[in-house]
Amino acid sequence: MRIDGLSLESFRNYRRQELSFDPDCNVIFGDNAQGKTNLLEAIQYLSCGASDRAKSDRELIAFSAERAALSGEIFSRNREFVLRAELDRRKRRKLWVNRVPAKTAAELSGGLQTVFFCPEDLLLIRDGAAARRRFLDAALCQLRPRYAAALASYRRAYVHKTRILRDCDQQPGLLQTLPEFNERLVQCGAVLIHYRAQFVERLADIAAANHADCSGGRECLKVSYQTVSSVQEPLAEPAILVRQLRAHMEEHKCAELGSRLCLSGPHKDDLLVEIDGRDAKTYCSQGQTRTAALSLKLAEREIYKNASGEAPVLLLDD
Ligand code: ATP
Ligand code: MG
Repeated sequence: MRIDGLSLESFRNYRRQELSFDPDCNVIFGDNAQGKTNLLEAIQYLSCGASDRAKSDRELIAFSAERAALSGEIFSRNREFVLRAELDRRKRRKLWVNRVPAKTAAELSGGLQTVFFCPEDLLLIRDGAAARRRFLDAALCQLRPRYAAALASYRRAYVHKTRILRDCDQQPGLLQTLPEFNERLVQCGAVLIHYRAQFVERLADIAAANHADCSGGRECLKVSYQTVSSVQEPLAEPAILVRQLRAHMEEHKCAELGSRLCLSGPHKDDLLVEIDGRDAKTYCSQGQTRTAALSLKLAEREIYKNASGEAPVLLLDD
C-alpha cells in the first residue's frame, strides 16, 4: 500500500499544494511551522476521516477559507484509488472513493490505512484512559467496519442516556425510554468488547516482542485489556457478554440515577500498560514511554498487515 500523490486546497497552512511521493521511503524536512505535521495529518485524514489532533474538522480548514479539500492517489490491493474529502465550515463534510460518494469514513479505510506516530503519542502511555480508548477505537474502526458501526450506535445511545439522566427531574416521563437505550448500549457494548479483546490479545503479543527488540531484551512490556467488572472473559461470544453487561447495568441502576452519570459500560475501558511489572503511566521514564508507545503503534501496523496482506502507510513525525 502506498500513497503516490496528494493535493491540498485550503488545508491548514496550505493554500494549494500538489505533491508526489516516492514509492519507498519519503523524508519531509523543513523549518518549524512549515507544515510538515499538517501534511501527515492530511494523509491520516484520508485514511479514516479523522485527525488525532483536531477536535473538529473546522480546525483543518485554513483560517482565511470557508472550505478545504484534500485528495490522495493511492495504490493498494493492486488497484489505484482516488480518495477525496471536502470540508466546509457550515455544511457536513463530503467524502468520495473513486469519485463515488462514500457514506461513512470506514469506506476510506478500504483504500488507505495509516499508522501515525507523533510526539503526542507519548500521551498514549501517560494520559488517562480516554487516550488509550481513542487508540483502540481508531485502530478498530479502520480494521472492522462492523466495529465502526457499533461504536457510532453506542455513542448515540450514550448521548441519549446522558440527557435522560440529566433531565429526568424536570421531565420524569423520559425515564420510560431509559430501558430501550440501556438495551442498545448493552448490545453494542458487547460488540465493542468482543472486538477490543481480540485486538488487544494480538496487540499485546506483538508489542511485547517489539519492545523487547527496542530495549535489547532488557525490558518486558505487558499490555492487558480492562473492561466492565462483570465480564469474566472478554474474548467470549457477544451473546454471553450481553448477559454480563446487562447484569452490571442492573446493579448500577440506582447509582446511575443518583449520580446522573452513565457508570456502566465499555465507555470506561482501559488498557493497562506495564513495564517489568510496574504501571507504565506512573513509573516510566521518557525514553521508556517513547519505546512503549512506538511498540504499540508498530504492533497496530503489524495487525493491519496480517489482516489485509498489506502494510499500512507508516507516518512518523519527529
Ligand atoms: P514543527 O517542526 O515545529 O513540528 P511543522 O512543520 O510540523 O513544525 P505544522 O504543525 O504542520 O508545522 O504547522 C504549520 C503551521 O500551520 C503552524 O504555524 C500553524 O499555526 C499553522 N496552522 C495550523 N492550523 C491552521 C489553519 N487552520 N489555518 C492556517 N494555518 C494553520
Ligand atoms: Mg511538526
